[in-house]
Amino acid sequence: MKTDDSSRLQNLNKTIKAASQTNLYKDKNLKILSRLEDLSTLPFTTKQDLRENYPFGGLATDMQNVIEVHTSSGTTGKAVVSYLTKKDILEGNKAISKAWKTFGINKDSRLMFIMSYGLFSGAAINTYAIQHLGAFVLPAGIQPIMKQINLMIDYQIDTIVATPGFLLYLSDSLEKNNIPREKLNLKRAIAAGEIYSNQTRAKIEELLDIEVFDHYGLCEVNTGIAYECEYHNGLHILDDYVIAEIINPKTGGTLKLGELGELVLTSLKKEASPIIRYRTGDITKIIPGKCKCGRQSYRIDRIHGRINDTMFIRGIKVNPYELRDFILNIVGNNLKSSDIIFKIKKNDIKYTPQVYISVKDDKILPKLQKDIKDTTKVPFNINSVEPNFFGREDNNKVKLVQYVED
Ligand SMILES: [Zn+2]
Repeated sequence: MKTDDSSRLQNLNKTIKAASQTNLYKDKNLKILSRLEDLSTLPFTTKQDLRENYPFGGLATDMQNVIEVHTSSGTTGKAVVSYLTKKDILEGNKAISKAWKTFGINKDSRLMFIMSYGLFSGAAINTYAIQHLGAFVLPAGIQPIMKQINLMIDYQIDTIVATPGFLLYLSDSLEKNNIPREKLNLKRAIAAGEIYSNQTRAKIEELLDIEVFDHYGLCEVNTGIAYECEYHNGLHILDDYVIAEIINPKTGGTLKLGELGELVLTSLKKEASPIIRYRTGDITKIIPGKCKCGRQSYRIDRIHGRINDTMFIRGIKVNPYELRDFILNIVGNNLKSSDIIFKIKKNDIKYTPQVYISVKDDKILPKLQKDIKDTTKVPFNINSVEPNFFGREDNNKVKLVQYVED
């Protein structure tokens, strides 16, 4: 038993007690636990549960105590909301600033946040945590790329926070506009919001001559949950703030250390929006053993994918992240943009799935089409598009898998 387990259990029971008062949990028969291990006896919370309880069903305090609200970026149906009291923001700052400290941020750091503010929780919540360390934050949000580059130069920004796709786009844009890398004072980037491989990370690090850290979070629990240390060997969980479990997504059973499954999170210090066993839909594992850095916290592996992103095409299962890396490997330096989009149609065997890609020379496309068919057994149709097709300047994220409606 870890030494801090008793305070975690205490906070877990506080969370259970607070949650039981809400509409979201009042019929779920939550019980106070005598051991942390018994958490697996409590019911799950799904995104659907949260949506059905919009707007106030999950709120565990009076509106009078709430000072901020965020919603998840869901574009269809009812949003998922997360409320914050003053105490929630302070506890969040304490927890999440640990991650930023580990990335090397201190009061001399100059950060630029290239993610949208507004209802999206990631930018605001992390900005507060960074400012808690006394660092400078430039809340750039979404702007045309030349404006972003000029801000980076004018303020000699050393750290940027963006999606990995944006970082590749930044590198392309510097090259296209003949802006020497030396004009920027960049040392590191925190790349989050999109799932990316170590291979993509290495590419970004080489192109921009920076260190890239992964950071994991989600609006439903908090947009700071786990972070990489200097060893980049999994993400350290903020253990005194959340409890992480890995379950078999089909049976709901808890998996052992090291087994790949769905990440489930329980909050320990959220006052306004406590959450119990939230099914994130993200696929990862808990890494056994301790990290070389000496931190005692549990670590999760980098996110492997999302359960709902697996493409089922004509009865064949295709992992879009693996297919993306496979394509990027084949196309190599022939790319004009690092973005790729797959378009598929659910339950329609007549529809030919599409790949959208931007290459310098179309001659590679027939070979690419054949290689994809050989490896996936699915005949994808390849579309050659211009980089602006992906709309990087207008969007936080580009959705890798897009479903075509009838
Ligand atoms: Zn470590």
